[in-house]
Amino acid sequence: MKIALFDQYQVGLVADSQVRDVTAALGVSDREWPWAFVPRMIASFAELRKTLEQSAERVVPLALSQVQLRPPVPSPTKIVAAAANYQDHHQEMGGGSLQGEVFLKAPSSVVGHEATVVLPNVPGREIHYEAELAAVVGRPMRNVAAARALDYVFGYTILIDLTVRGKGDRSRRKSYEGFTPLGPWIVTPDEIPDPQALSVRLWRNGELRQDGNTRDMVFTTAEMLSYASSVMTLYPGDILTTGTPAGVGAVQGGDRVEAEVERIGRLAINLQAPPVNAPIAEPGLHAEARS
Ligand code: MN
Repeated sequence: MKIALFDQYQVGLVADSQVRDVTAALGVSDREWPWAFVPRMIASFAELRKTLEQSAERVVPLALSQVQLRPPVPSPTKIVAAAANYQDHHQEMGGGSLQGEVFLKAPSSVVGHEATVVLPNVPGREIHYEAELAAVVGRPMRNVAAARALDYVFGYTILIDLTVRGKGDRSRRKSYEGFTPLGPWIVTPDEIPDPQALSVRLWRNGELRQDGNTRDMVFTTAEMLSYASSVMTLYPGDILTTGTPAGVGAVQGGDRVEAEVERIGRLAINLQAPPVNAPIAEPGLHAEARS
């Protein structure tokens, strides 16, 4: 099953380039904070699944091309990200010991399929794409062994981990506005029996730049989830993104970036140069600019 959010945060089931609106079957609505129901839906999905499937049979499908897809989890409590988890990417970044570390990306940086990401004003710095497989947590997860970790996965999606390269704290360099494109939807694990056997590819302006496979991760999705759960409780809707294969590179305004993960689909974004009056968003430099 492929689950999407679209237009005014309606919930849709995706099949054959169509989406079927099953929002009514959820029995919840919140006009003030329309996406707050998403973690609740994820947490209770086992009971909801049948109802949603039956509801989908009764509604008129919409063409995917006619809706605006939203990030499938618009407001996760956190995004836990693997720091260098493919040996070939680790080598291109300079190597050293690879320990399976994690860091956090700001939830406010999440955007959806076909988003336009306005690049920050970071003089002299490159901004890179990183195509990644991401797992969406389905129920609270704390100190879970790797052997059981995939039982806690609600589904899988694609994440582009946009990154300002160079010195400085990762949590800032990877949390600029729009730096976490997510989607286009979530695919449930029955369609992805083995998350360690998926091709991961990325095109910049139509040119293939990354061409890897999740089998080449140093630490598996299950191992990363297990480790993260030993640090903090992972909640329904939280995202664990698993690192990127080799081939990262810089983007600039006007670029189009498309990331594809086998069995999930393709997530596309468009980059826009910062406006001429954009504040400098780098440590040190922002203080100079102010004085
Ligand atoms: Mn990354």
